[in-house]
Order: sequence, then C-alpha cells, then structure tokens
Amino acid sequence: MTNDTIAAIATGLTTSGIGIVRISGPESYEIINRIFVNKNGGSVILNKPNRIHYGFINVSRETLDEVLVMNMRAPHSFTGEDTIEIDCHGGPLMMKRMLEAVIDAGARLAEPGEFTKRAFLNGRIDLAQAEAVIDVINSTNDSSIKASVAQLKGSVSNKVRELREELIHATAFIEAALDDPEHYELDNYGDEIMPKLTSLHKSIEELVKTYKYGRFVREGINTCILGKPNAGKSSLLNAILGEERAIVTDVAGTTRDAIKETVTYKNITLNIVDTAGVRETEDKVERIGVEIAYKEAIGADLVLYVIDSTIPMDESDKRIIEFLEANGLKTLYLLNKTDLLRSKNEDVVDLCGENVSRETLKISTVTGEGISELLEKIHDMYTDGSITENNQVVITSERHVESLRKADKSICNVIESIEAGLPEDFFTIDLMDAYKELGLIIGEETEEDLVNRIFSEFCMGK
Ligand code: GDP
Repeated sequence: MTNDTIAAIATGLTTSGIGIVRISGPESYEIINRIFVNKNGGSVILNKPNRIHYGFINVSRETLDEVLVMNMRAPHSFTGEDTIEIDCHGGPLMMKRMLEAVIDAGARLAEPGEFTKRAFLNGRIDLAQAEAVIDVINSTNDSSIKASVAQLKGSVSNKVRELREELIHATAFIEAALDDPEHYELDNYGDEIMPKLTSLHKSIEELVKTYKYGRFVREGINTCILGKPNAGKSSLLNAILGEERAIVTDVAGTTRDAIKETVTYKNITLNIVDTAGVRETEDKVERIGVEIAYKEAIGADLVLYVIDSTIPMDESDKRIIEFLEANGLKTLYLLNKTDLLRSKNEDVVDLCGENVSRETLKISTVTGEGISELLEKIHDMYTDGSITENNQVVITSERHVESLRKADKSICNVIESIEAGLPEDFFTIDLMDAYKELGLIIGEETEEDLVNRIFSEFCMGK
C-alpha cells in the first residue's frame, strides 16, 4: 500500500481552456483544504464525496485562480485512493503554479504513470488494463482506440482468466488425485482432458493470430518510400499527406537524412519514412541515399518502391528489385509520372521483364491519379474485416503475444506427454507453467521489474 499523497498536472501543458491538477493519496483532503476556500469561506468536506466545489486557490493569502474542485473518496476513484481534481485555467504557467501550490501544501510530485500504477497496486485494474490506458492515450487511429478501450474494459483480461481457470482446474484435479488416490481416480485422465487441452491450444492460437493485425493497429505500419533520385519519392509523400481523408501528425525525430511522417487513413496509421532528404554531390547522392534507404527498408513492414515510368529501367533498378526480393520485403511497385506517358500515348515500363508477379499501381503525384487507390490498397492489406468488425479480442501487445506463445508451448508439451503415455504428474509442471505465463499478462504473477518497466512508459499525470 502507498501512504504518501501524489500530485501532477493531468492535462497537456499547452494553452487551453481548462487544466487539471490531480491529487491522490490519504492526505488529499487535508492538502486541498490548506489552499482552497469556497465563496463562503468553506472547505471541501470529507464525508461529502463526488461533488464539485466552486471556489478559489489561495497562495500566501493571494488568490491564485478561480477553480472547480472535484472530490472522490477511496475506494471509489481511478487510483482507489482519496482523489482530488482541481480544474483551473489552462495556461501552462497557471498549471505549473497550481501544481507548485499543491506540492507546497504537502503533496509529492508523481512519477510518470504513478496514478495508474496505484490503480493497479490497489487492485482497481489489472496489468493488461493498465497497459490499455497507455494505448488509449497513444492511439492514432479508430481501430487502435477501439481495441485499447475494449482491453481497458477487460476483453483481454477476461479471456486470459477464462484460459487460466481451465488450466488450474485440470492441475488441481491431478494434484488432488496424487495426494488422495482413494477418492480421486486418475485413470485415463489424460484422455479426459485431451479435448480441453486441444481447445485451449486452439483458442490461444486464434488469439496469437490477431496480433498480426493488432500490432499494426497499435503501432502503425512502418512504411518506407524507396526509389532512385527524381523518381518522385518526396512528391509521393506530399501527395499522400495531401490526400483529403488522411490525417497528418507531426512526429518528433525527423532527421536530416530521413523524413518521418505519420498519416492516418481510415482506421490505419502509416509511419512513413522518405529517404529523399540526402542531397550532396550527384554521385554521392545515389550511394548515400540508397544506403540509408536500404537500412530503412529492411526494418519496414511495407516498401513503396517509386519508379519513374518515363525512363527505361536500368541496372540500378534491377539491383533495387533484387534487394527487395532477396530480403522478402513486402513491396508495392508504383509506376509514377503516368501523366507524362499518357500525353505521349505510351505504355508504362515493364518491370525488368521478369516473370515475377509484382503488385504494381500506376500513379501520378502531379494529377493525383492512383493515390487514393494506393491508400485503399494498403488499407485492405492491413485490415482484416473479421477482426475489426466483430468484437473479437485483439492482441495488440508484443508482451502479451509472447506470454501466449509460451503458454501454448507448455500446453502442447502436455498434449505430447499424454500421447507418449507419460504419468499424470508430468502434466502438472507444464500446466502450471502455462498458468503462470498467462498470469504475467494480467499481472497476477507479478515481476517487479516488469511492472516498473511498464509504468515507466507512461506520460506524467497518468
Ligand atoms: P525524389 O528525388 O524521388 O524525391 O523525387 P521528387 O519527388 O523530388 O521529384 C523529382 C521530379 O519529378 C520533380 O521535379 C517532380 O516535380 C517531378 N515529379 C514527381 N512526380 C511526378 C509526376 O507524377 N508527374 C510529373 N510530371 N512529374 C513528377
């Protein structure tokens, strides 16, 4: 249990209508009443929770701001502790002064994610739900919001609990029978639990499968624009950014060598890297550009290879195509500048004339031809109607999928042991391993390092 009282600014530090400073812990009420008075000189009353009090925050007998104060009594708050929220005016300086006032009145500055960590430690939410809180905040597309809110409401946790329930039931029966053979019959128990284990294995496999899309939902699709100088890479990026339905977000970390942009189209997010930023001497351009582009392409989920279709393919195109195929990179071949071709009544280039089926699209970044088709195509490649439309549990976290895979492995071991006719006590070890591994997802088998690592990813005030 935590016994100190923490505080932080819960809203963004930008100019806004309202800013919220949140206080949580046993001394929340004492702290607020050291600085708050309502217009009749009254304070926030302990035994009247869930109210909104209008009044003023005073610092050194001067009014700092006119505020609304909301009070929640333990355990009926997000953290499970006494909680106070101060709605003050939303200027960054005002919010800082408000937080200082609260700290001077006795609160400690919260660490990133500490409110949510307390909610977890106080049993208000489990670990998968706590992770969903970060995901909701970081969501960049509607699918991601949907998946993380479902996880917050317990979709993943409930499923994991269901699986664990089955495992513990089987283990308990075997243990009981080993302890008390007179009352529990273990003969053929392997055969008896086999259908259950097969069904557990299938359920986990289904969950693991959703991660293929879940990762893209949560993190976006890492997309690399590749191509020779002047093929139209930057123009393509601009055309995608300019597409009406695409939402563009600024991303920190734009480097001199590679431009990174995040684009949301319908319910997918593209993290696009364009490596066209390198421009030095003519020769060097190709070399450095290609090297950087190659490096980016290797780590990408999808490569958009832009080809200038007005000029014949050469050795260097061939090498790029070889590189893409040798590395098994998922690639869309974009035949650009089709506006120039059509006027000359020509056909687009043959992709090195090889008999390999390649996904090609004709585009023109000047007329916009093919750009919305391109986005639509990517959308179709990375969404699975059955996942996004049904309310199926979607695994979006690598940590969860790892635990699911390990648990599945242990379950398969039990299946093998049964098939090999091994004695029942062999089963329990693997059954318990699977049970524990699944417990890690919801934090019921807690490792302190893991918990600390998860909460360190949070932003301040959450
Ligand atoms: P990058 O070096 O691959 O990034 O190429 P840029 O995007 O800078 O484009 C090179 C040149 O091709 C610029 O002059 C563009 O205006 C032109 N360009 C790019 N796409 C098209 C297109 O679809 N049609 C036409 N006509 N010109 C284009």
